[in-house]
Order: sequence, then structure tokens, then C-alpha cells
Amino acid sequence: MFDTLQDRLSDVFKGLRSKGRLTEADIDATMREIRIALLEADVNLSVVKGFISAVKERCLGLELSKALNPTQQIIKIVDDELVGILGGETRNVRFSKRPPTVIMLAGLQGAGKTTLAGKLASWLREQKHAPLLVAADLQRPNAVGQLQIVGERAGVHVFAPQPGNGVGDPVQVARDSIEHARRRLYDVVIVDTAGRLGVDAELMQQAADIKEAVNPDEVLFVVDAMIGQDAVNTARAFNEGIGFDGVVLTKLDGDARGGAALSIARVIGKPIMFASNGEGLKDFDVFHPDRMASRILG
Ligand code: GDP
Repeated sequence: MFDTLQDRLSDVFKGLRSKGRLTEADIDATMREIRIALLEADVNLSVVKGFISAVKERCLGLELSKALNPTQQIIKIVDDELVGILGGETRNVRFSKRPPTVIMLAGLQGAGKTTLAGKLASWLREQKHAPLLVAADLQRPNAVGQLQIVGERAGVHVFAPQPGNGVGDPVQVARDSIEHARRRLYDVVIVDTAGRLGVDAELMQQAADIKEAVNPDEVLFVVDAMIGQDAVNTARAFNEGIGFDGVVLTKLDGDARGGAALSIARVIGKPIMFASNGEGLKDFDVFHPDRMASRILG
């Protein structure tokens, strides 16, 4: 990920270093190049504009003629501002003081919710939590079966409607799961909800009903980073439709440009909390804006 952006920025800074002294014109030219690099990485236009103007303002405040190592200082400013657009501080899960902590996953079909549910459960187990997975996706044939496979792999119990009871009501399943967790002393409940191929009213309504029924501590919006700016648009629709607390970016392993990652937190105003970069249980991590910015700057 970020390969092209990394190369482009590294060229920009190499060019600057070779100059020694820097003028205002050099800063202008640099900002133009960074702007193009970000746009080519598919970063949202308003994010690019805000970023460039913030970086430029700080660079002009450097008193370049006096600066000892101006390029290094510019890189530091770019790094700071990148951390800012990626969300600033790392945002950890807020665990409820009165267990179970309820985490609801929402997003389009194919975004990677079910896969993520397993990764999250496995990660929670490593931290000595006792998670319960809940199959509230009763729309897609075999969604329950898929979550059961994921649960088995993660070594985590799956709460699902009993076979033979018809399709079942996802809102009721979600509601019952909280009671089940309380009785069996699971301290985190991860509710996997249904997605669709596109945003529609019925999907939003069901997600909103489940949200109301389980009163989640965290609603995580799960989105495929490979869809670029569409990820930002979908995030906006879900945030307006049900409201969420944090974003999980999936399929970062297939996303060469990084535009969604570099846009979503700033545009939506919600932190990226986790990142997924593969199909395996371990291909997953807490999202650290500072580490991500360092990676971009090489
Ligand atoms: P859901 O419909 O939102 O529950 O999505 P799934 O969890 O079923 O994932 C859809 C597809 O994406 C599956 O084939 C997953 O194996 C795949 N997938 C999920 N997360 C990742 C990821 O981070 N990287 C890659 N390469 N594939 C992923």
C-alpha cells in the first residue's frame, strides 16, 4: 500500500535536499508536487486542499533562510499533518464498565465484516477477553454458516438462531445474544450484521433497529479500502443512516493507492480504529495514524 505515494514523496524530498537553501518558490513547487502525488493516490480533494494549505502555512513560518535543515523540518511538518488527517491519536476500543461490551459491525456486503468479526474475536481473546460472536446477518444464505466457520477458526462461540426456526429475526437474535452473554459471562459481544451490494433504505433500517436493540458501545463501519473514494461516500451514507463510532479498513493488502485511508477519517470525522490486510486471522491490527504516516514517508 502507498507504494506510488511513497515513491513520489521520496522524489520530492530528494529534490529539495539537493538544493540546500530553500526559497518561497521552492516551497510552492514542493506543495504542487505533493498535491499531485496525493491526488494520484486518490485522496479526497477537500482533504488534499486542507492538507496543502496547512503544510504550506507552517512551512512559510519556518524562516527558511535561517533554518538549519529546512528539508528535514518540512518532512516533519508533512508527517505531523499526515498523522492529523489519518485521525491523530490511536483510538482504542472503549470497553463498557458494565459488561458485556457490545461491538456492532456494519457495512456493505463483501466489505469483510464476517472475516473481521473473527479477527476481532481472536484479537480480544489474546487480550484475555471472552468474546461472543453473534450472527445477525440472516439475509445472505449461508452467512450464519460462514460466521460459524470463522468462529471455529478463532476458537470463539457463535450465537445464532437455531436451525429449523425459519429465517429468524436478526433484531431478536441480536437482542437475545446480549442476555445470553450476560448469563454465560461473555464480556464482549460482536454483532455481525447483514450488508447489501449498495446502500438502501431497508438495509439502513435493519441496521438501525439492531443498533437500537443492542445499544452498542461501539458501532464499527467496515469498508473495503480498494473501492477508494466510494469508501468515503459509503461511510457518509452509513454515518448519516445509523451513525458509527469508528472505521475498519479492510483489504489494505490489495489497495495500492491508499486514498480511502487518507481521506475517510478527515471527511467523516470518525477515527480509523482497525486495519485488515489479508484473509488470515492475524492479518489485522489496531490502526496507528503515526505509524501509518511514517510508512508513507518511508
Ligand atoms: P462480508 O460480506 O462483509 O461479511 O464480507 P466477508 O467477510 O465475507 O469478506 C468478503 C471477501 O473478502 C471474502 O472472500 C474474504 O476472504 C475477503 N476479505 C476480507 N477481508 C480481507 C482482507 O483484509 N484482505 C483480503 N485480501 N481479502 C479480505
